[in-house]
Amino acid sequence: MTTKALFCPTCRKVVLATDPDFPFCSDRCRILDLGAWASGGYIISSPIHDPDLLDELEGLKNRDRRDTNDSDG
Ligand SMILES: [Zn+2]
Repeated sequence: MTTKALFCPTCRKVVLATDPDFPFCSDRCRILDLGAWASGGYIISSPIHDPDLLDELEGLKNRDRRDTNDSDG
């Protein structure tokens, strides 16, 4: 079994693929990120399980591979 991990798009914290809020570290960060583009006040109350979204996330991961984590911590 392979465990994947990403950095939370909102706070850059490490998030495991097994996390229920993946790729976000928490529900809070997910809402914050959604609010970035859905700033009209529209809230999605149902869970997101779109295959298209998962596929899109895969593409984002590939794009972010060049972005190395070189922060001072
Ligand atoms: Zn986060």
